[in-house]
Amino acid sequence: MQSVKCVRIPVRPELERVAPYEPGESLDAFSARTGIPVERLIKLNSNESPYGPSPRVLAALGNYTRYNYYPDPAAPVLRQALAEYTGVPVEHIFLSNGSNELIQLLWRVFLGPGQSVALCPPTFSLYATATTLCDGTVLTVPRRPDYTLDLEAIKAALLPETRIIILCSPNNPTGNPVPLADIEALLETERLVVVDEAYIEFTGAMEELSAARLVPCYENLVVLRTFSKWAGLAGLRLGYGLFPTWIIPHLLKLQLPFEVNVAAHIAALETLADLESVRQKIAWIIAERARVYEVLAAQPFLHVLPSQTNFLLASLTDARVQISDVRAALEAEGILVRFYRSPDLARTFRVSVGTPSDTEALGRALANIRLA
Ligand SMILES: *Cc1c(COP(=O)(O)O)cnc(C)c1O
Repeated sequence: MQSVKCVRIPVRPELERVAPYEPGESLDAFSARTGIPVERLIKLNSNESPYGPSPRVLAALGNYTRYNYYPDPAAPVLRQALAEYTGVPVEHIFLSNGSNELIQLLWRVFLGPGQSVALCPPTFSLYATATTLCDGTVLTVPRRPDYTLDLEAIKAALLPETRIIILCSPNNPTGNPVPLADIEALLETERLVVVDEAYIEFTGAMEELSAARLVPCYENLVVLRTFSKWAGLAGLRLGYGLFPTWIIPHLLKLQLPFEVNVAAHIAALETLADLESVRQKIAWIIAERARVYEVLAAQPFLHVLPSQTNFLLASLTDARVQISDVRAALEAEGILVRFYRSPDLARTFRVSVGTPSDTEALGRALANIRLA
């Protein structure tokens, strides 16, 4: 065999500075690691829907016969349906391959070396990763002890080169929404304010809490949405954003052609045509959230944050219990939840809201944790 000659071209230096995004473990990987069959696992680590998409989605995907053709990138029918769903005129709507793609595209539109993004931890880790990948700087403005935004601290932290303020509402992983008054106050700073509303459907008060209706009134407000969570379509990858119209031509240049696939188009249209049944599933999850809260709060060693999302964040309050104890107890029962590496979340874990039987299994598994 011929030996491989060592030829390593230098990579971009910012790649050396980012850790790869760590997704929640997949069912297959967890099963291979633990030996527990996939059918017995309870996946509560990535905020996916336990109920899956509308049955109309499955039927329409199976009946479609033109997968050999590229999708229409202008997607007029789907964008019009989203205009009706959001109440925002169609010219503000832009589709993406998951809303994570929009974060990357937007950052590439606005961010270069020396420019910064303000973010408020604890929050979604991808915002910082995307910033570093653009060779930008992260301005970290911690939340107050109750996890609300510290508006004065955000304003004080802004630098002349700060381009973007990213807010997650409701926030992953703390579960609380950003009041619209806070968003309006930050719009006055004349930075691009990006509001990630991945979980807004679970607030039960979307009309009041969503920043969508402000989009046509500002040239510096973007709202990001996704079908991954509420619509049960995480695997098909469909996101969309509500943008000031002047930004959209720039996104179009950066996005690869046909990035949103035909299956995602179909699935989104069928979801929007079947909102009654999808909203029923959201209502089940909101109702179940209260039961998961009770189960977690009933453990003497846990504190739980209230949540307006489809997940809850619990933190250990008793020095006799370690996060490894929680991990072992849940893993033994085949329950996947989200643990964190970052020091501020090292003694916390996040649980997605599942079905009533998932909640019962969670309670049984936590009851196995003994205070030493
Ligand atoms: C899950 C999630 C998303 C969704 O990302 P997609 O790429 O649309 O699947 C976006 N933002 C946050 C904060 C999330 O937790």
